[in-house]
Amino acid sequence: MVSNNYIPYGTQWIDDEDIKSVVSVLKSDWLTTGPKVAEFEKKFARYVNAKYAVAVSSGTAALHTASFAAGISKDDEAITTPMTFAASSNCVLYQNGIPVFADIDKKTYNIDPKEIEKKITNKTKVIIPVDYTGQPCDIDVINEIAEKNNLIVLEDASHSIGSKYKGKKIGGLSDLSIFSFHPVKHITTGEGGMITTNSKDMYGKLLLFRNHGIYKNSENLISSDEGDWFYEQQVLGYNYRLTDIQCVLGLSQLKKVDSFIKRRNEIVKKYNNAFEKVDEIITPSQLDYVESSWHLYVIQLDLDELKVNRKIIFDEFRKNNLGVQVHYIPVYFHPYYKQIGYKRGLCPNAEWLYKRIISLPLYPKMTDEDAEYVIDTVKKVIKKHSKR
Ligand SMILES: *Cc1c(COP(=O)(O)O)cnc(C)c1O
Repeated sequence: MVSNNYIPYGTQWIDDEDIKSVVSVLKSDWLTTGPKVAEFEKKFARYVNAKYAVAVSSGTAALHTASFAAGISKDDEAITTPMTFAASSNCVLYQNGIPVFADIDKKTYNIDPKEIEKKITNKTKVIIPVDYTGQPCDIDVINEIAEKNNLIVLEDASHSIGSKYKGKKIGGLSDLSIFSFHPVKHITTGEGGMITTNSKDMYGKLLLFRNHGIYKNSENLISSDEGDWFYEQQVLGYNYRLTDIQCVLGLSQLKKVDSFIKRRNEIVKKYNNAFEKVDEIITPSQLDYVESSWHLYVIQLDLDELKVNRKIIFDEFRKNNLGVQVHYIPVYFHPYYKQIGYKRGLCPNAEWLYKRIISLPLYPKMTDEDAEYVIDTVKKVIKKHSKR
């Protein structure tokens, strides 16, 4: 049986209520820098239990802005995982810093705190852990390492809105947390991102960097206020603002985030039940003190049990209309990173994992029939290539 419907690995869910909200802003006086920005920030901060939130134009802009606030500058080192999207380490390069890759834990696929400690030097300034697939990194342990070494923790929470660590929501547990609203993520604004923090000082830096490095209010001016028109650019910032059109969509999506996460969990349960019985597949392993919001469902192939490699299996999934993906190619494998001096072999666990993983379709709009089709197809293809 071949499904006529291509099932992507992830996609947005936009309903009439979302569309109505966007139209209302299009008819209003404010398309950008208006009231919906502050409202989205306030509601988002409340949702993740952080004091402050700053909306920006993408998750990548959020990483860049947070890297500025964390104080990364020329030749500062920031430790991150290679098992992520390139943006998590590109942000360090934007600030002329040096990304340092620490290997992952082979069970959780998240950055291994012991590996972080090994990579700390007197140039280290920041740790950038990523909550891979939605499973929170071991943030208490990472915060402790940071405190001991006087480092800032910038958590890439692009996958983990709504995830919990020891009962607490991700977003208020590190110095800075960043989120993405790209359509494949839990909620979307088209493009968009958010940075959350509990520090007033960080909050000020985030606002400054988002808006060209410009101050308008007189208490922050260096020279004397020349009048109502006056402003000063004090650092080199960017225009990373998110429009009101996007923020109102974000507000509308945020109302549904818990139901989206609930649906993701239902599908994950179906997958786990089906694939735990398949010897050639290793299902995602979760720490018992975390709750993932499940951005991705990543299966690991047991290559010792299979006659073929990952590519053959992957291609056959695709041929059967499963929009599978691989998350991720270790960041330093990319030609750009090679060109600036990174070599293969740096993080053996991440490289080992990369050869074995496939992300299966997972998004809230998936029907039970879609999920059953994914399960049947995966089982059929695996059985065909099994050594058993
Ligand atoms: C999606 C993603 C980003 C980048 O977000 P954009 O909104 O696409 O710029 C960064 N890090 C991780 C881990 C991501 O998954």
